[in-house]
Amino acid sequence: MRTAFFIYDTLTRLGWEGLQREVGWSPPERLNVYWPGPCVFGQIGGSCYFYNGIRLTEPDGRSPDAILHEFGHFVLSRFHGDDPIILACAPTFEHAFPQHTSLHCAWSEGWASFLAAALLGKPRYQGWDLEDPLAHSDFPRIDPVDPHATNADNKWATAAALWDLFDHLPEPWDPHADGWDGPARNGIWTLSTQRGFNLDLGIEEFWLKWVERRPDRLGEAACPMYRLQILLAADPSVSSIPYGLCPPRLVRRLLPGPGRWPVDA
Ligand SMILES: [Zn+2]
Repeated sequence: MRTAFFIYDTLTRLGWEGLQREVGWSPPERLNVYWPGPCVFGQIGGSCYFYNGIRLTEPDGRSPDAILHEFGHFVLSRFHGDDPIILACAPTFEHAFPQHTSLHCAWSEGWASFLAAALLGKPRYQGWDLEDPLAHSDFPRIDPVDPHATNADNKWATAAALWDLFDHLPEPWDPHADGWDGPARNGIWTLSTQRGFNLDLGIEEFWLKWVERRPDRLGEAACPMYRLQILLAADPSVSSIPYGLCPPRLVRRLLPGPGRWPVDA
């Protein structure tokens, strides 16, 4: 009974009211919560969002991170429909933090984890560090000889990039603080809820929208995304990115690996 009230309190106070306060929007529909209620699909038992319902495992009912992550799926599904969110990681539905999945899966899962972290105001999701994931050996590194390798298909990198844009701590690689919805409301919230957002392209679509709506402030998003190896100079799909936006010496020092990053070329 106590856990049921905890879930209710977390969803209303931090979820609905938090979002209303921060971005002036909250889901108009009601949401059913099943706890403890197993997921009805997928090969991995776990919590999930499934057509207007959140299903939580027994321990997740006591985890504000997990509750708000599933709430995040519900939120994004209000803008882009249920199916693309629920089936984002089909057919395996596997998406461990250090794992490469797909652009679509990494965006859906990373965005939901970012939302939970942002609503809770802490740079972690269930113990995973969103502030400086490169400090951890299990953060995926990109094969420097594979021209198609990128962390855009990794939910940890995706969540960390969004956190970097969001947070107000001036890290050397990220002096920028965009908050929930940056300058003149062309930030994380507006871009990712925008009609026509192509979920299949995940965070690369987010980047394209950023380029479209904030052409004068590309470096603010590009620098954290370079650092996390989401945007790569050699990737033809992001070849339109103007390199040289990040502070030169800074980037050379911060980016991992041998000199493959002509961001200041
Ligand atoms: Zn999820």
